[in-house]
Amino acid sequence: MKVKNYMEDVVDYLLPDVLKSYPDLCKCQHCVSDIKALTLNNLPPKYVATPIGEVYTRVNELSLQFEADAIKEILQAIKKVAQHPRHT
Ligand SMILES: [Zn+2]
Repeated sequence: MKVKNYMEDVVDYLLPDVLKSYPDLCKCQHCVSDIKALTLNNLPPKYVATPIGEVYTRVNELSLQFEADAIKEILQAIKKVAQHPRHT
């Protein structure tokens, strides 16, 4: 078993879809990583013990609430990064 931040999986799972609705947003690795980092900094971590290799799947009501919170923070992060991109 491995302890991981479940929120990171939730964000990895949702981010590509949310980014698709922002066609004008820069999606270079730097910007996408910044968006992910900002999002995770603003979300309370949720640590779970999980068998190695297991990835996030939408399994229960609880994860729907996490997704709603995660999407809210992803949108905030996109706004910040779009205003102040750090790529060169
Ligand atoms: Zn960029």
